[in-house]
Amino acid sequence: MKVTEHLEKAKDTIFSFEILPPLKGQNINNIFGAIDQLLEFDPPFVNVTYHREEVVYNKLDNGLLEQKVVKKRPGTVGICAAIQSKYKIDAVPHILCGGFTKEDTENVLIDLNFLSIDNVLALRGDSMKNQTSFVPEPDGHRFASELIAQIKGMNKGVYLDKDLKNKTKTDFCVGGAAYPEKHFEAPNLNTDIQRAKEKVEAGAEYLTTQLFFDNEKFFHFVDQCRKAGITVPIIPGIKPIATKRHLSILPTIFHCDLPDDLIKAVADCKDNKQVRQVGIEWGIEQCKELKKAGVPAIHYYSMGKVDNVEKIAREVF
Ligand code: FAD
Repeated sequence: MKVTEHLEKAKDTIFSFEILPPLKGQNINNIFGAIDQLLEFDPPFVNVTYHREEVVYNKLDNGLLEQKVVKKRPGTVGICAAIQSKYKIDAVPHILCGGFTKEDTENVLIDLNFLSIDNVLALRGDSMKNQTSFVPEPDGHRFASELIAQIKGMNKGVYLDKDLKNKTKTDFCVGGAAYPEKHFEAPNLNTDIQRAKEKVEAGAEYLTTQLFFDNEKFFHFVDQCRKAGITVPIIPGIKPIATKRHLSILPTIFHCDLPDDLIKAVADCKDNKQVRQVGIEWGIEQCKELKKAGVPAIHYYSMGKVDNVEKIAREVF
């Protein structure tokens, strides 16, 4: 079933979460363990992130650096197929512009279609660490809106090779990303909202947000989106803070502001066990308020360890 169908059918806010494929070499049981822990909250769909190749540098015996391109977390499509087969829950693979030519994209969509995976979250992806800004593949997409247009094109039977015979129309439900505190490259929030609108015009049927800690920012964002004519469901993304280090790395990586009260509560903690508890309590308050406001679903960024998500969900769902 499609994410949009789940959202339409639901009588109350849906619980959902995303998982990361395991590091290369590890098996899938940790992922199943995380899903097992959250099953009682009835997630109708589970997102699986995509991790593009990375450049790493190894120091050689002669002191020189060797540059290698590695994929540390492959397996997104396989995990999605495994989740659907084992749990009968819809899987939502994330797919990227970065690292993909249009043909690579077409081929991955064909794989997903054959596996009866009919949901995708379409994203641009970030730049590689050795690049200062995002560089698309030659013959790849520059923006998520272009990727969304390609997927929606396949739903109408449009393939790159126009001479193909008996073309199958795919039937993907496509989501896109949105940023309550704006995407860091956008000159301002209004411009970024116009870009989000372009994604919806290209075919995104719902938007899932970047993580945020201040609900007012989310409510303001949704209000501005509605004023700009974006009518699709907007799903808030929540990540419980769990370590003191998050105070600096979350703003660096995700470009989000942390409220003063949260910073103070974390700073006052003696250790990360206490920080985890602060994160759970903050998450419970945030999610209760979002649910009361009638959000269609809450999307939890689990980052592998789900005990805190479980504790929040127990109080909220
Ligand atoms: P876009 O919508 O293409 O926007 C990127 C930037 O370009 C924005 O600043 C936008 O304002 C601007 N822009 C858009 N269109 C135009 C245009 N026509 N002209 C000029 N500027 C334009 N990353 C991963 O690598 N793997 C994942 O699995 C993953 N999952 C994510 C899940 C969610 C819910 C979210 C919110 C993010 C996720 N990301 C993931 C991160 C995401 O890839 C980055 O935030 C990336 O930098 C932007 O992706 P996007 O799809 O929002 O890009």
